[in-house]
Amino acid sequence: TPPGPSDFIRDIVRADTAQGTYGGRVQTRFPPEPNGYLHIGHLKAITVDFGVADDFGGTTVLRLDDTNPDAEEAEYVDSIVSDIEWLGFHPASVCHASDYFEQLYAWAEHLVERGLAYVDDQDGETMSANRGSFGVPGTDSPFRDRTPEENLDLLRRMRAGEFAEGSRVLRARIDMAHENMQMRDPVMYRIRHAHHHNTGDAWKIYPTYDWAHGQSDAIEGTTHSLCTLEFESHRPLYDWFLSHLPLTATAPKQREFARLELTHTITSKRRLRKLVEEGVVDGWDDPRMPTLRGLRRRGYPASALVAFCDAVGITKTNSRKAIEELESYVRRDLNKTAQRRMAVLNPLKLVLTNWPTDADGNPVVEHFEVTNNPENPEDGTRQVAFTGELWIEADDFAEVPPPKFFRLSPGREVRLRGAYFVTATDVVKDASGAVVQVNATYDPASQGGNSPDGRKVKSTMHWVSAPHAVGATVNLYDRLFTAENPGAATGEPLDDLNAASREVLTDAKLEAALADVSPGEVVQFERLGYFAVDPDLPATFHRTVGLRDEWAAIQKR
Ligand code: ATP
Ligand code: MG
Ligand code: MG
Repeated sequence: TPPGPSDFIRDIVRADTAQGTYGGRVQTRFPPEPNGYLHIGHLKAITVDFGVADDFGGTTVLRLDDTNPDAEEAEYVDSIVSDIEWLGFHPASVCHASDYFEQLYAWAEHLVERGLAYVDDQDGETMSANRGSFGVPGTDSPFRDRTPEENLDLLRRMRAGEFAEGSRVLRARIDMAHENMQMRDPVMYRIRHAHHHNTGDAWKIYPTYDWAHGQSDAIEGTTHSLCTLEFESHRPLYDWFLSHLPLTATAPKQREFARLELTHTITSKRRLRKLVEEGVVDGWDDPRMPTLRGLRRRGYPASALVAFCDAVGITKTNSRKAIEELESYVRRDLNKTAQRRMAVLNPLKLVLTNWPTDADGNPVVEHFEVTNNPENPEDGTRQVAFTGELWIEADDFAEVPPPKFFRLSPGREVRLRGAYFVTATDVVKDASGAVVQVNATYDPASQGGNSPDGRKVKSTMHWVSAPHAVGATVNLYDRLFTAENPGAATGEPLDDLNAASREVLTDAKLEAALADVSPGEVVQFERLGYFAVDPDLPATFHRTVGLRDEWAAIQKR
């Protein structure tokens, strides 16, 4: 018995392994259609496919399910391959369903020869009208009893490109009255005179999902074909096709698990594409997108994403998980790894009027040693410059403090973290009456931020030395959709878009050490959250998550 989690999928694999169903082999596949970027829902399938195989010493194939020539692009293929690598999974091989077009076609002829498939000339509308509906039997096509010879001739001519698109299809000959709608003579091939990114102009007919999927599994040697619940009704068809083909090995088995959905976001490539095309977001890798590209740019560690999916586990009921739960995994991960730094997002000048000058009349510069990450002593310490002209957060000061405001205000003493106690004395205002500078005095005896005589202050604030500061743009993010289940009310997720999902702060002041972060690195800005350096844009940060664990609060509700 392998270690690790147990669930109904692993129980099935365990039983097959024990019985030697596949000679002890376990092979899964992850089969994305290369028509968009991978999203958090795909991540669920990836962790199931790779996780199950891994637990049983098996392998996983990455199969690009490229049977539809219209929507697929090489750009997407490349992104899928590299996103999976980023997550830390390693496919045993990268294959394309289109690699099997020739074998699929040979098997189609095999079915035609046995009277198990036929060419239907009905138009699409007639065909769907004749399918019947749940509980109502369909009507046999007038072309259903063509001879195998006639069907073979027509199929070959379909392949040769002799017929117009939409004029004919190849259908499996099963049962037009079957209680399962999927079994009512499903379409296997459509005529499409289209260019395909992998096979070029070689094919004039393209297989449907149902005709390609199980057969591709069998060709690759997949033992367990794990997919989401919406394919459960396709399973009898999956088995029917395989049972009528001359396979040399035991047929793979399809098993289904629940989709993963998250609150306040969507996991449909079609709808995500709409967000990109309509300019709602900057692109597939916008940090607000639930794509792996977006989450990565936002600073989500791959390890946190995988840990979250593993914790959700494999179930048989679809559910929508709270995005706050995912965020708590991200926060926990970053808490261990992120360096602490000081940054001021909305700067207000603080001038220490009793700060000393040196022999040349220049303000003295002091350096304080601060810990890089209290969670990881090996990260050591750094020197942070301090002088009499500083930046503090504008909302850490109130000229007239409201009740329970314990930060800086005239006459109030606070601690500047790791530096000194300071007391505000007066303010400087601009012509409009806005406070543009706070004057204060510091207590030299409080050096290091320690209380000289045991007196207490109610607040500790972060700061950045003004002459040493580096400027930056900081993007703060809110939910992309205001509703927990976007589109639930109207059917259109865009109706629930959050118009204020991004706030851009262009005047942030960072401590000098932040000039040295590497692209993509995530740091903690003290008191403000975790922030990822944009991989491409200079001096641009994205807030990954705030510091407060909202998931803990939700669980207590
Ligand atoms: P979309 O509807 O976003 O296009 P899809 O299911 O059509 O998604 P595919 O590229 O065909 O996308 O999916 C590849 C695999 O990922 C499939 O096995 C599919 O079941 C799985 N998958 C897609 N979305 C989810 C999800 N939200 N939760 C779990 N698995 C998913
Ligand atoms: Mg799909
Ligand atoms: Mg889909």
